[in-house]
Amino acid sequence: VSCGWRNGPAMFIGVLRRAIEDDDVTIDFISISRFVPDSGRVKIKHDLECDIGGRDVVLVEDIVDTGLTLAYLLGQLSARNPRRLSTCTMLDRPQRRIVPQEIDYRGFELGTEYVLGYGLHVRDLYRNLPYGVAADRDTLVSRPGADVGRVSPGAGRAVGAPGSGEGPGCGGS
Ligand code: 5GP
Repeated sequence: VSCGWRNGPAMFIGVLRRAIEDDDVTIDFISISRFVPDSGRVKIKHDLECDIGGRDVVLVEDIVDTGLTLAYLLGQLSARNPRRLSTCTMLDRPQRRIVPQEIDYRGFELGTEYVLGYGLHVRDLYRNLPYGVAADRDTLVSRPGADVGRVSPGAGRAVGAPGSGEGPGCGGS
């Protein structure tokens, strides 16, 4: 079973699914309310439809930042007695970690840059970009729909894009 949190990792999960030859894979989604650091308040908005008891589960994230979301989801899923529970993230920003997390499968490691595209969004915009770009979040919040190439200090610098020499790429892995 491959479980994604909200629709952020959906694009990434599609790529992973195509790379897995095994037919017996179920893709399911769990959605929680946004984690407010220090409040500890979070709730499941949409739960998995399948029973993961006794199954091998990979929890797939788009990006792990503080690690709070991943820690919460791991707690929820492990209580359902999967046979094995592993973690996978497209992007990892270990510098901001509050809850230490061992991640089994990692795509790219980020610094402090804010990233959009390939499922990652600001106010539900830019999810559909076929690559990840570093952009200035504050500018995009004040100018919704702005062209990331024009507002990013790095001119929409690609993060692990195909052909960038940084590995398989957010857009082509
Ligand atoms: P955490 O609980 O690890 O702090 O946060 C994970 C969530 O924060 C991600 O699933 C994502 O929704 C959001 N997030 C963290 N960093 C970024 C980023 O650079 N860009 C975007 N668009 N969302 C981010």
